[in-house]
Amino acid sequence: MSFDLTPTAAQHDLAARAHEFARDCLRPVAGYYDRAQEFPWPVLEEAAQRGFYSPLFYRDLIGDPTGLSLPMFMEELFWGCAGIGLAIVMPALALSAIGQAATPEQMLRWAPECFGTPGDLKLAALAISEPEGGSDVRNLRTRAVRDGDDWIIDGHKMWIGNGGIADVHVVNAVVDQELGHRGQGLFVVPGGTPGLELVRKLDKLGCRASHTAELRFDGVRVPAENLLGGSERLERRLATTRESIRSGGRSRSATLGTFEQTRPMVAAQALGIARAAVEYMTAYANKREAFGAPIIDNQGIAFPIADLATRIDAARLLTWRASWMAANGVPFDRGEGSMAKLAASEVAVQATERAIQTLGGWGYITDHPVEKWFRDAKLYTIFEGTSEIQRIVISTALGAAEGKPPLHVDLEPSGGALSKMFGRGTEVRTRAAAAALALKDRVPEPLARAAMRVLRPPR
Ligand SMILES: Cc1cc2nc3c(=O)[nH]c(=O)nc-3n(C[C@H](O)[C@H](O)[C@H](O)COP(=O)(O)OP(=O)(O)OC[C@H]3O[C@@H](n4cnc5c(N)ncnc54)[C@H](O)[C@@H]3O)c2cc1C
Repeated sequence: MSFDLTPTAAQHDLAARAHEFARDCLRPVAGYYDRAQEFPWPVLEEAAQRGFYSPLFYRDLIGDPTGLSLPMFMEELFWGCAGIGLAIVMPALALSAIGQAATPEQMLRWAPECFGTPGDLKLAALAISEPEGGSDVRNLRTRAVRDGDDWIIDGHKMWIGNGGIADVHVVNAVVDQELGHRGQGLFVVPGGTPGLELVRKLDKLGCRASHTAELRFDGVRVPAENLLGGSERLERRLATTRESIRSGGRSRSATLGTFEQTRPMVAAQALGIARAAVEYMTAYANKREAFGAPIIDNQGIAFPIADLATRIDAARLLTWRASWMAANGVPFDRGEGSMAKLAASEVAVQATERAIQTLGGWGYITDHPVEKWFRDAKLYTIFEGTSEIQRIVISTALGAAEGKPPLHVDLEPSGGALSKMFGRGTEVRTRAAAAALALKDRVPEPLARAAMRVLRPPR
């Protein structure tokens, strides 16, 4: 289980194709969809034609054991346009929730419904947040009540990507009043189900090509088979939760698990925006002259660029680590998913704000894309857990980890017994090296060379 940053040929090719798609199909129309606040159907269609809009594509990304394919793809796509990017990847958020909760049969049934096929595209939504409860899941009030072979859902959801226009809505609802947020189930509500109302499409600051809506569920009736995971698994989970509460333990809601898994993916999106801003302001500062020289010659302009480039690379390493951990089932014991999301979203806001400053008056008007990127970036410190919530998750995890050493010290080693006995810094190795050095003037050179080869640390 080793963490390797060398991209494979397939990953390299994926990033190159995603970049080409973002450059040729997203960037040229980003301004239009931002102003019109229109859903970018033709770009989705092109994504589907190129193989970037299907459950199999995401299965391949998530199935990559290095964890790198998913963040590499996201960064390139969102480098093109975050609003259109969100419209393209929204079904993947719903799919991730389905993947964690559903039975294999339900996965087979609903995954194709989330994306459709080229020429017949479908949309999916993940509806968790409510007007009274975005950060605080204890405030979630949407309820599902069993009625014979059906469930009836009543409630109110807010800020839902693809809400009301999706073919598949993955909706969480409290099924056990006494357990509150710890007694939730996840349901699939198909678009057009009676009682599901699109109250309004929300008018947003940024990411305006994506559709975000307020939804109401008024006696929405779905069959029992739409409860993800099924009734038996739900009952088992509720029983475990009750037992855990009785014994004074804590139990997590299924919804929180979904967020931890998707945070590295969202972090990579923020990195795409941040990188676009740094590239743009660097190119501008190289060309723009003031007082007879390019403005980049001033440290007041150049140093922030250096700081931002450093912070972006640091955030990318956190993101790739979290993604690798998710791919290999390494638990986020120290809040590593949240660390990635926090670092990447904060640097996206800083980079885009700095890009406006670097462009001066030109940065403040719509002739250049940086003001749009600034508006887009701000979303990333708010959704999928605000920056404050990420800090709570990280600090709580650190508290619970009780002074565990960092991951690279704590993680189960991947090498064999040879590494343990003869690896760097071991006693045997030190003694052998000292003996070899003492003999080096007394043995023929080819023999000394051969000995040094043997002494090279095992890989
Ligand atoms: C464009 C957009 C798209 C979205 N898409 C989706 C979607 O597809 N599906 C979905 O379910 N949701 C979605 N959301 C909802 C999003 O996840 C929530 O808005 C977010 O979780 C914050 O919740 P809130 O807005 O209720 O803020 P609140 O929870 O009310 O927080 C308000 C402020 O208080 C701070 N705060 C709260 N509690 C604490 C605390 N304990 N300590 C310190 N500070 C605290 C917060 O950090 C924030 O700054 C989307 C939101 C937006 C804006």
